[in-house]
Amino acid sequence: MTGQTEPVSPVSPVSPDGDGDGLLRYSAGQQARLVELGLLAAQLQQQFESEAERNRCFQSVEKQAVRDNRARLKLLLSQERQVALCRLSSCVASALVAAGFTQVSTPSIIPRVYLERMGIDEHHPLCSQIFWQDRGRCLRPMLAPGLYAVSQQLLGSQSVPVRIFEIGSCFRRESDGQAHLSEFTMLNLVEWGTAIDERQSRQRHLIDLVLSAAGLEGCSVIEEDSTVYGTGVDVVDGQGLELASSSLGPHRLDAAWRIDCSWVGVGFGLERLLMSKSGGGIHRWAKSFTYLDGACLCLR
Ligand code: ATP
Ligand code: MG
Repeated sequence: MTGQTEPVSPVSPVSPDGDGDGLLRYSAGQQARLVELGLLAAQLQQQFESEAERNRCFQSVEKQAVRDNRARLKLLLSQERQVALCRLSSCVASALVAAGFTQVSTPSIIPRVYLERMGIDEHHPLCSQIFWQDRGRCLRPMLAPGLYAVSQQLLGSQSVPVRIFEIGSCFRRESDGQAHLSEFTMLNLVEWGTAIDERQSRQRHLIDLVLSAAGLEGCSVIEEDSTVYGTGVDVVDGQGLELASSSLGPHRLDAAWRIDCSWVGVGFGLERLLMSKSGGGIHRWAKSFTYLDGACLCLR
């Protein structure tokens, strides 16, 4: 049986009560199990004349889905040997390194003062989403403060352009589970010293570079306000799912980090990229004890 602790509903299951025409649909428990095994909403629509017929059908559909998931796991263990999140992370990192960026790694636990420098005080909408360790430290909700801190030092000794990026976990208390995780993987890149009149073309170029490394097509760039940076652009997929947000500097936040130059920055959610490319709910592609590489682990 499922016995899962994570949300497992990438689709809206149909009502198990039938349509009032005497026909039955899968029970709520059966629907949850089939969703967990990766069946799509359309495959849950089937109607049955009796409970016995429904249960027989469930058993055979479940059996086939278990077989499919087992085959996916076998392929992972025997050939691919890296889950999609790790594969994507390696692909994007290689593309950025080849484009002149340096990968950095900063702590996941950051001081409160770093949030304050991002303009996130107790009145800010993001404040209620922070996981506090104690009064002075929290789990980072974004990579930008770490990149700002490293860049402040780097720019003191190196000349622009300086191009760095980080790929790492970020943490936010979220209430909407369909496209939000409490722990997710952000890719944040920043190019310091971009010529003012080249920022927009560099922004598009860098967005395209990441999308192409991720194998995603059909995305668009729209203007959108960010609660941290103000006016910026978002990258959305064909269904309108936000994949990334991007801003340009100089920006009013730079002064708190004693940085004074122009820049282009983009932050992508890697699980959103996987969800958009491969389908299924976001939990299927997240760091998880329930799913591995999009396949369900619970196959007994
Ligand atoms: P949303 O409006 O979808 O909640 P956001 O605008 O608050 O996202 P940003 O701060 O712009 O998110 O973060 C950059 C990217 O990180 C987003 O475009 C998205 O791809 C990803 N992201 C943000 N929050 C989450 C989350 N809780 N779970 C998964 N991915 C996330
Ligand atoms: Mg955003």
